[in-house]
Amino acid sequence: MQFTFPLVSLLSLSLLASCSAGNDKKAMMETQQEKPADPAAKVEKSDAEWKKELTPEQYRILRKAGTEAPNGAVYEQFKKQGEGTYHCAGCGALLFSSKEKFDSHCGWPSFYDPAKAQNVTTKKDISMGMVRTEVNCAKCGGHLGHVFEGEGFDTPTDKRYCINGVGLVFVPAGGEKPEVKKDAKE
Ligand SMILES: [Zn+2]
Repeated sequence: MQFTFPLVSLLSLSLLASCSAGNDKKAMMETQQEKPADPAAKVEKSDAEWKKELTPEQYRILRKAGTEAPNGAVYEQFKKQGEGTYHCAGCGALLFSSKEKFDSHCGWPSFYDPAKAQNVTTKKDISMGMVRTEVNCAKCGGHLGHVFEGEGFDTPTDKRYCINGVGLVFVPAGGEKPEVKKDAKE
């Protein structure tokens, strides 16, 4: 007799759970159809879609967390660029600007801070036998590079966002900014 009560409540619980899950799904579908596109929405694409859109080098760096060769052609261009903004080559999100750019002599584009903090995320990276902080685009998740702190640079933050130039699109001041891409599945 003792087991009857828990069994019944378990049954009704699972019924409740399946019922509410169905409602949630329905509610979600309705919201997706009625709501206009959320400007803060993440850009999610399949691997095949990224491969099609990006150059092989952009794909290797942004989607496969690769690193461009130091002091390459892109870095030489970066050094010559004047005022402007740097956008994600994957999704167009604003990431850095010439205001935070500084010459770290490290062979990769360097910034002491992002231009728009919410468009850049960081996470611990223990690959290659090192403990580093990986920098990603918050919108499409693309790998941008790494950030190092406390190296003694005379900048407001003493941080070095060491970024692959291949993953950035430079827009000179007053130029037309790239459209921030939407989810391809929408
Ligand atoms: Zn992006």
